[in-house]
Amino acid sequence: MSELEGSGYRGKALQLLKQANCNVGDILKVTSKGKSYEGILIPRFGEGTAIIIKMKSGYNIGIRPEDDVKVEKIGKGTKPTFAAPPLPKQNPALPHVVIMSTGGTIASRVDYRTGAVRSALSASDLYGVVPELSDVAQVDTEIVFSLYSENITPKHWTELAQTVANRIGQGVDGIVIAHGTDTMAYTSAALSFALQNLPVPVILVGAQRSSDRPSSDAATNLIGAVKAAGEAPFAEVGLAMHETVSDNTIIVHRGTKVRKCHTSRRDTFKTINGSPIAKVKDLQVILITDNCQKRDPKRKLVLKPNFSDKVALVKFHPGLDPAVIDFYVDRGMKGILLEGSGLGHVSKYCFDAIKRASAKGVVVALASQCIWGRVDMNVYDTGRDLLSFGVVPLEDIFPETGLVKLMWVLGQTSDAKEAIALLQTNIVGELTSRTLPQEDKLHFEGSQ
Ligand code: ASP
Repeated sequence: MSELEGSGYRGKALQLLKQANCNVGDILKVTSKGKSYEGILIPRFGEGTAIIIKMKSGYNIGIRPEDDVKVEKIGKGTKPTFAAPPLPKQNPALPHVVIMSTGGTIASRVDYRTGAVRSALSASDLYGVVPELSDVAQVDTEIVFSLYSENITPKHWTELAQTVANRIGQGVDGIVIAHGTDTMAYTSAALSFALQNLPVPVILVGAQRSSDRPSSDAATNLIGAVKAAGEAPFAEVGLAMHETVSDNTIIVHRGTKVRKCHTSRRDTFKTINGSPIAKVKDLQVILITDNCQKRDPKRKLVLKPNFSDKVALVKFHPGLDPAVIDFYVDRGMKGILLEGSGLGHVSKYCFDAIKRASAKGVVVALASQCIWGRVDMNVYDTGRDLLSFGVVPLEDIFPETGLVKLMWVLGQTSDAKEAIALLQTNIVGELTSRTLPQEDKLHFEGSQ
């Protein structure tokens, strides 16, 4: 991955930095309006367009990439070095778990020179940094990608599913996938559809703070995930993170029923419209629901790793221009997921565009932007109208899992009728026929 990629620069700033062959951490001289500034190029966060350098004084300065701005590289940054500690000794009596790393904060360290978080840890570094793992499992490690999860695409899901299937074929007791938290729930849903009939658990894990920060949640999350992968009595795709802000419990959510719900809290992931599968407390795995596929090493995995990239998500909002729907249809999309309001509605101004999409064979499905609860398109005439145009209600599936399911379904079949039948079938616990009230889970507890 290029150093500038993911550093937050775009447009003119990115162009100037590329021309001067600069990377984050290099020493630059930036001249603007007759004045020159020297300092280390640091990544930028947020919306702005300025080039940010950290000057010798320790202050950061932002220089707008206007026409007269010149950028020169005057020194090469020294790469932050990290020597991984020696790997702990393996205990052959423990279950055999593979930790795959894909990147994200869990596999990152702070570069204290520039203040940026950067991807630096491989799966085996992680193992070295958290030696307690050797008391929980015999760990094998593998780097699959080194990406922040916002850069992961459906093609990566396919590759990851194939890699996991290979390792399961070798007879391991469980798989842990270290992943960035931003899109981890999309990947957990994708793997749930791609890896059916699992014999052993596949557990995704992330961290909200990189592993070298005192407040990091990386070690506890990783230990909980490895414990669950090696010993849990279930065999599904799960996502393991803090249950609350304290370090006591790691909760394992079902891969298709989990969502990132807070920008920064350690207990950011919540199960939506269902129950988590298990928790790990005091190094014990406790099953929370019996409604799960049980571990059975003899079961034969069914790998279905294809996803269609011809699927779009359209969020309904007051004033949505129906031309957005026409645009996607004209771009050759095979599926559109409408994120409707309330029980499952979009404005009547979009009706013609939706009818046109259906008439052209595009599968149009609908999930509610309320997230909690289920769609019921029979209550109001808006919902009934949408049903009559062929819109497929996704019951209690929330939009992100709905999108992944639509991508997966259209990766299995190009026949719209078959696709609709698959969409309405519960494949891996993503769709439940009755949603129980879970008011107690609707809020975050305690302070961050
Ligand atoms: N942007 C990062 C990612 O998703 C954040 C994280 O890892 O938590 O890769």
